Amino acid sequence: MIEVTLLGTGSPMVDPNRAGPATLVRAGGQTFLVDAGRGVLMRAAAVGVGAADVTALLLTHLHSDHITDLTDVITTRWITTFTRTPLLVIGPPGTAAVVDAILDALAPDISYRIGHHADITEPPSVEVEEVTDGVVWGRDGVQILVAPTDHRPVEPTIGFRVEFGGASVVLAGDSVPCASLDALSAGADALVHTVIRKDLVQLVPNQRLRDILDYHSSVEQAANTAARAGVGTLILTHYVPPLAAGQEDAWRALAATEFDGTVELGDDLHRVEVKARPAG
Ligand SMILES: [Zn+2]
Ligand SMILES: [Zn+2]
Repeated sequence: MIEVTLLGTGSPMVDPNRAGPATLVRAGGQTFLVDAGRGVLMRAAAVGVGAADVTALLLTHLHSDHITDLTDVITTRWITTFTRTPLLVIGPPGTAAVVDAILDALAPDISYRIGHHADITEPPSVEVEEVTDGVVWGRDGVQILVAPTDHRPVEPTIGFRVEFGGASVVLAGDSVPCASLDALSAGADALVHTVIRKDLVQLVPNQRLRDILDYHSSVEQAANTAARAGVGTLILTHYVPPLAAGQEDAWRALAATEFDGTVELGDDLHRVEVKARPAG
């Protein structure tokens, strides 16, 4: 079983009730954080996960809403561990430069803490692995694959497929439908996909918001991707506009126009247990 918890179901739009994009994936005693949006560690704390517990941080892309709190994950990991415990970050090319810049920005804090605590003698340790494709993780029965997604002009962007005990979960991040996401998602038991309501966004009299129409999947497009790939459960997140109470069935109905499997959506901390489906 792979446990998926939507830590943050929000977007760049600030919402008092939705943290920024982040998803927790737990399998085989390993804890993966996928993206690190606004408030990620507050939400993770709500399910008993601290920065020190993260096996690896997986970044789908370097858009600010997905990495807002990377600085918090780096610092909090550093000051809540008592032996050298590098934070492993697996992300697209460009990730190392972002991490280096964050560490530069943290230089005053790093010097204060090293100066003040006798047992803190070195700066945060972050190990970055930049990937675009292929198998990027294999440990104790958990395998993770990566493939490119299409969120242009934002590039490179990647999706992850986590496999454990016969179950599989794909985390698409922000993407329009594309062949490599289809291939990554083929036969997956669950697909976590960020979505926007294009039918609503196109009505907004603000071109800057309407600009997002061309590089995100609508609910129907994400559902169509899930259907094409033969996915079991579609898990929607990153709702634009924010999913309002009582509107869940309207979002489900849009997904149901393209996909006849299970659709999961909800508020921050919505949890889904993904099990391997019987073959055939
Ligand atoms: Zn994005
Ligand atoms: Zn986004």
